[in-house]
Amino acid sequence: EPALDGAFRTLLDWADDFRDIGVRANADTPADARIARTFAAEGIGLCRTEHMFFEEARIGLMREMIFAEEPADRRAVLDRLLPLQRADFTALFEIMEGQPVCIRLFDPPLHEFLPSGRAGMRELAEGLALPLADVEARIEALTEYNPMLGMRGVRLGLTVPEIYEMQARAIFEATVEASGSGAPVVPEVMIPLVSAMKEVELVKGRIDAVAAQVRAATGSTFDYRLGVMVETPRAALRAEEIAQHASFLSFGTNDLTQMTYGLSRDDAGRFMSAYVQLGVYEEDPFLTLDLEGVGELLRIGSERGRAGREGITLALCGEHGGSRKAIDFCRGQRFDYVSCSPFRVPLARLSAAQLALEGRD
Ligand code: PEP
Ligand code: MG
Repeated sequence: EPALDGAFRTLLDWADDFRDIGVRANADTPADARIARTFAAEGIGLCRTEHMFFEEARIGLMREMIFAEEPADRRAVLDRLLPLQRADFTALFEIMEGQPVCIRLFDPPLHEFLPSGRAGMRELAEGLALPLADVEARIEALTEYNPMLGMRGVRLGLTVPEIYEMQARAIFEATVEASGSGAPVVPEVMIPLVSAMKEVELVKGRIDAVAAQVRAATGSTFDYRLGVMVETPRAALRAEEIAQHASFLSFGTNDLTQMTYGLSRDDAGRFMSAYVQLGVYEEDPFLTLDLEGVGELLRIGSERGRAGREGITLALCGEHGGSRKAIDFCRGQRFDYVSCSPFRVPLARLSAAQLALEGRD
């Protein structure tokens, strides 16, 4: 368990007196959330829920769900995942003790949960008691040429709506549970990879329906905040109408960088150093926020988001979030907070304070 040493803690506390932008942490596990608390993050700005499905027991259920033929069959499998997800969220809410927790709905393509090699496929066929040919055919049907630009995020959420419905139920039931034993929880639910206002409208309708069911079943009157990740150029350009259905926008600069450059996050390493050496890029834009291109979309997105909803909460939650350059930019655009990996929180707090002090006469 990391700890903040006494003198450094005092320095950070002083820094907080000057800081004028919030700092949250990206955290998916209780361990991350505890580190976030230790480093005095002001909440969780991004909980990537897909990470919760890769452990042994859950990946098996995910596979069963992927092979289920009918929505009702998928729902039956997801019902077995529900208590596990509920426990995940209850733990995060309890650790954060009333501080905001922003939960991003399931994001990756489904094929990530399936094996690729022959041996893995054979094992899966045995486990599911299906003919090997069926398993191969299903895997082939789910395999995409460009999975990062394919059926992930909200596209999957709207095509297989049972997944988001299960997650929403888990979030709201955890909200009721955690609010019963401590500070009232107002969960933040965030939709990934949005590119059209209608996506938000449709998901919101489904989540509202689940919230109403949980309220009726528990007699609780909890509230929740719905937010949208702005990580496609189109979402930034259409932020004005998207904001009408969202109480916050969080800019995901990892995907936004990928899509602004048309450059795969996962393949950029192959030529990045050559490009930097040639002087084509000054720096790796996945590591250092590109203020000219990506920054322009952030400016457009935040201005249009504010035009769509006055006082909308604005945040940045990509890997850049903890950097001085990104914090400087976000302060300039009057963002409400940045969110970064828990270990970067102390430096983000210091950078934010330093920038605020430098801005004084
Ligand atoms: C992003 O795209 O910036 C983001 C925060 O989401 P992820 O890294 O999980 O795609
Ligand atoms: Mg993303």
